[in-house]
Amino acid sequence: MSESEVRASEVGASEVRASEVGVPELRVPELRESEVRVSELRVKAEKLDSADELAQLRAQFVLDDTVYLDGNSLGALPRSVPGRVEDVVRRQWGSLRIRSWDESGWWTAPERIGDRIAPLVGAAAGQIVVGDSTSVNVFKAVVGAVRLAGGGREGASGRDEILVDATTFPTDGYIAASAARLTGCTLRPVAPGEVLEALGERTAAVLLNHVDYRTGRLHDLPSLTAAIHQAGALAVWDLCHSAGALPVGLDEHGVDLAVGCTYKYLNGGPGSPAYLYVRQDHQSRFDSPLPGWNSHADPFGMTPDFTPAPGALRGRVGTPDILSMLALEAALEVWDDVSITAVRAKSLALTDFFLECVEAYVPQGAVESVTPSAHAERGSQVALRCDGAGEVMRRLIEHGVIGDFREPDVLRFGFTPLYVGFGDVERAARVLGEIL
Ligand SMILES: *Cc1c(COP(=O)(O)O)cnc(C)c1O
Repeated sequence: MSESEVRASEVGASEVRASEVGVPELRVPELRESEVRVSELRVKAEKLDSADELAQLRAQFVLDDTVYLDGNSLGALPRSVPGRVEDVVRRQWGSLRIRSWDESGWWTAPERIGDRIAPLVGAAAGQIVVGDSTSVNVFKAVVGAVRLAGGGREGASGRDEILVDATTFPTDGYIAASAARLTGCTLRPVAPGEVLEALGERTAAVLLNHVDYRTGRLHDLPSLTAAIHQAGALAVWDLCHSAGALPVGLDEHGVDLAVGCTYKYLNGGPGSPAYLYVRQDHQSRFDSPLPGWNSHADPFGMTPDFTPAPGALRGRVGTPDILSMLALEAALEVWDDVSITAVRAKSLALTDFFLECVEAYVPQGAVESVTPSAHAERGSQVALRCDGAGEVMRRLIEHGVIGDFREPDVLRFGFTPLYVGFGDVERAARVLGEIL
């Protein structure tokens, strides 16, 4: 039975009871205030869905009737992927075998797919290579940034500090700490709001998240990058929670180095390879701490001495993970003809509407949004602090609303504009209200 049928039968039942006790006939059953609110918000959701220019993209994904608000952790499966993986495995590997390195474009996949991601993050071609995990790319970027700054124990600039977002996704902090030790720098964890005061003559590099993974707060990439440059340091941005959800503008804002994963808003699949952006004018001096044979100018020369490849290619390391990389390439086809500006507009409309529905449905004081209400400070997720958040999320999932729980008390809901609709948003908030 659908929800609307349940509601209709409830109304019918109360009418029967009313007539049994002799209430005059033809009385319109009075709706409770909360029911009026539900129908208003449902009507609003329908209107927003029918005006949504991205709505037809949902058909390009494999989804069911659950509300999937976890695309900021693992994006849904694009329909183009299974067939491509089948072809890569059966024909390219199974039949062409080693010829596929040339004939199927395996060898050049890291830079080709990097160029496919580039427009989504505001980068011209030739600056992004795909491969390895985000963690590994954070390492390449942070050590590379210190070296570009002439900092650390080996450098002559006297810059011996790396600043890192103190609230960062843990892996970035762990890697930055190791990068600091290796380069002879001190790691200073600072809250993003305090980066400006912490910058100085000793700063070599700053590693920041564009959007905070827990709160969904969007940091001001243009002004922070400008301030970091003003201090003579390099800016390394982690785009895991922004790429594919909002415009980034790497070239426009002069970002030095950037990294990001591809399995969140880019829907590349579990463990799909990450990417590294090295700004054009840094490339000739970018000195990767992980120079592998794939970073070499002549990989098949097999020489004992190392000559780095030109351009962003030197950010590659070893043999690319072809199966997941080509799954990612198929997944990126969804973005053909999609404007990231339209994606951002829908993302903000989705999170606005979610907050409005939560306000209407959830008992006062039961949750508190830790996501900024200002659009300029909001990514594509809403994080709600809530007592017993772990148990609440378990029940949400049981009722077909998939978000996730982050320690200690945060319910996290990610809104992927390519496949989440306004009806999903209304339903998620309503189920949350019922649980609380
Ligand atoms: C998701 C995420 C990662 C993931 O790192 P992997 O090495 O790909 O597992 C790293 N940093 C941030 C900020 C993230 O959100």
